[in-house]
Amino acid sequence: MNNASSSSGNVADNGSDHSAPQHQGQPKQKGYTKKKNLGVALVGLGSYSEKQLAPALKETKHCDLVGVVSGDSEKLKKWSRQYNLKEKNLYGYDNFDNIKSNDDIDIVYIVLPNSMHAEFVIRGAEAGKHVICEKPMANNIEDCERMIEVCREAGVKLSMGYRLHFDPFNLEMMRLGQNNLMGRCKRIVAKNGMDVVDKNQWRLSKVLAGGGPLMDVGIYCVQGVLYTLGELPTSVHAKFHPKKDKEKFATVEEGLEWEMEFPGGVKAFCETSYSKAFNILRAETERGWFELNPAYEYNGLKGDTSDGPMKIQSINQQAAQMDDFARCIITNEPTRLPGEMGLRDMHILLSIYESAITGRKIPLELGAFKHLIET
Ligand code: NAD
Repeated sequence: MNNASSSSGNVADNGSDHSAPQHQGQPKQKGYTKKKNLGVALVGLGSYSEKQLAPALKETKHCDLVGVVSGDSEKLKKWSRQYNLKEKNLYGYDNFDNIKSNDDIDIVYIVLPNSMHAEFVIRGAEAGKHVICEKPMANNIEDCERMIEVCREAGVKLSMGYRLHFDPFNLEMMRLGQNNLMGRCKRIVAKNGMDVVDKNQWRLSKVLAGGGPLMDVGIYCVQGVLYTLGELPTSVHAKFHPKKDKEKFATVEEGLEWEMEFPGGVKAFCETSYSKAFNILRAETERGWFELNPAYEYNGLKGDTSDGPMKIQSINQQAAQMDDFARCIITNEPTRLPGEMGLRDMHILLSIYESAITGRKIPLELGAFKHLIET
């Protein structure tokens, strides 16, 4: 189990706190000698960049916001004024590849609609930049594999934007679950859903989003169950919710329920929705229970157990996540959230869809990803 990380602290001092096992296929990084903070460019200036990542980059200790990439030149100017960014660090999608000759920028963070992740991760890596990719990694396995391969060949690190691996409440779920501190887990419940109001957004387009709530927020349930148990599922069995609004959900599911089975016999019961709000991760054990509700938010998380409430201080998840990646680059250690984890999750998500479509239980063979389970 990795300890809770924070955005504070000195890289040289806290290396062991964050150290992750060596992952297969970790790129051989070119020597990194910089002493200053690493420069981050946000690629895609929508809601997550504006409301979460840019503010978080004011709290980071090992990296700073130095550049932005957008298709909208007015937005670029606005961001440049707001964050005091140099004009040479503003890029459109067309001239993004010129970032190669820009020494201010070390990391590109891809925060675009899901179908665009692969193209921009690959272009960023080919420009010699380390890359963070938002979830879900892509819309299909082939893109995930290509992204990993190109980053490896380019000698750059690739990390997923899985912020909850740095959230102290979710880290407590890992600690309690993986070490059987409340007794062995018998059953897990994970639900993440929200009411999506805007009918015109890309999240409702299968082409841009790859799917509906499962790709967007259900992925947190998959992640939550895996890191609470510290095991990989052996099968999934899913069914779609009936569509109440057929026009709004013309190309993606409105909601979905699925079960995951684990080698030790534990079953996880999961649900996601774009028309129902819930946000829970709960483990029932031999002698009690522990849960987060809400579990996957940016802040305001609440943890409780059958022994009493979790007494935990929140941190800025995104600042901790970006700082840890910067630290991994500076010290040339593997990130605990490599592209392979995004690929693993894509296998699970697509099997959940396959099960919901066919009505069959789908066996999973995830042995290649065993090294990614935190212990
Ligand atoms: P958003 O709709 O607010 O922003 C998307 C950005 O992409 C906009 O700036 C838009 O102009 C740009 N864009 C470029 N081409 C586009 C196209 N063809 N269609 C639509 N937009 C286009 O979305 P967001 O909420 O910022 O999500 C962006 C990514 O970040 C997604 O992959 C999402 O899953 C991820 N995300 C992650 C978290 C998290 O907690 N880790 C939270 C929110 C979003």
